[in-house]
Amino acid sequence: MAQQYRITLLPGDGIGPEIMSVAVDVLKVVGKKFDIDFEFEEALIGGAAIDATGEPLPTATLETCRRSDAVLLAAIGGYKWDNLPSHLRPEAGLLALRAGLGLFANLRPAKIFPQLINASTLKPEVVEGVDIMVVRELTGGIYFSKPKGIFATETGQKRGVNTMAYTESEIERIGRVAFETARQRRGKLCSVDKANVLEVSQLWRDRMTKLAAEYPDVELSHMYVDNAAMQLVRAPKQFDTIVTGNLFGDILSDIAAILTGSIGMLPSASLGTENPGLFEPVHGSAPDIAGQDKANPLAQVLSAAMMLRYGLKQPQAADFVEQGVFKVLQTNARTGDIMSPGMKLLGCQAMGKALIEVLEAEIYS
Ligand code: NAD
Repeated sequence: MAQQYRITLLPGDGIGPEIMSVAVDVLKVVGKKFDIDFEFEEALIGGAAIDATGEPLPTATLETCRRSDAVLLAAIGGYKWDNLPSHLRPEAGLLALRAGLGLFANLRPAKIFPQLINASTLKPEVVEGVDIMVVRELTGGIYFSKPKGIFATETGQKRGVNTMAYTESEIERIGRVAFETARQRRGKLCSVDKANVLEVSQLWRDRMTKLAAEYPDVELSHMYVDNAAMQLVRAPKQFDTIVTGNLFGDILSDIAAILTGSIGMLPSASLGTENPGLFEPVHGSAPDIAGQDKANPLAQVLSAAMMLRYGLKQPQAADFVEQGVFKVLQTNARTGDIMSPGMKLLGCQAMGKALIEVLEAEIYS
């Protein structure tokens, strides 16, 4: 009998609906190839939800997401909603969704496609073969710990305060996601901290080291964050999986992402334990090109591949989709953001069609 999954689709705003439609077509082909029955349910988020209901994350959307096996999001936001109060802006919907699903682990791969090597700002010999996964803690650390705020002091000066705190259990749960992720990759995990200066990092390092005993097949190393930033740009190929806290992960995942040079190619996953995971491209809603059939749908398609791998535990189906993206690039098909001389310029729909042709050819070959 076919394996069944219920997928919530959140197309959102701007280019969202255009790229989501390509990802859904791809998943339908995956369904045929791997005997998987996807039941798609579309829900509102972001500006589209504000227009329809007055709220960026309607309760019905969160409930639909919670009932599903995985949530595939495109992007939210746009000029139209930029002047609303912050709690009513599209971005508030995304933050509420992450909180509502308890997503504490953010996975951001930075993989360079050989066909796009010249899109990187680094030398080809430095980035060729780069394939890194940054696992970032998403709901703790300095962005959330208390005390936080701007307080008056006795001298009359104001003092801004944030607190970087992690409990052992918070470290352990992100550590487990990271070890499991490394295990599915090349088995190397680098934990990044600032243990030479910060006590919170000393606890982080201690817990990661203890956890390593449970994962003898994963090789754990530690690196200070300043060195990690430097090494990512100097010799990125030394990294396989990186695990780090919220603040360091925010910065390092952007450095790792830009190694690949093209925002239209970058997927991400956010995972929790109680609820389904959320899978979305790193880029935003690109209002400057929305509705013009110019968007690159491949980050959305690669997000669907991450959904198959990390959300639905269908690694073969994920490989099939990722190889399809590799093969379509091999045919010289390019959207505007990754265009280079001698390549074929396609719109969003035509890129989707080219990809489906490649995937269908695999089914019937
Ligand atoms: P953006 O990522 O939307 O766009 C940055 C640039 O990259 C633009 O020139 C855009 O055309 C281009 N781009 C992005 N995705 C592309 C794709 N798939 N194909 C081709 N080109 C692509 O970032 P921004 O302009 O800073 O933000 C626009 C809106 O998106 C804002 O409202 C912002 O709040 C929102 N945003 C949403 C998310 C999200 O949904 N997770 C993330 C970032 C920004």
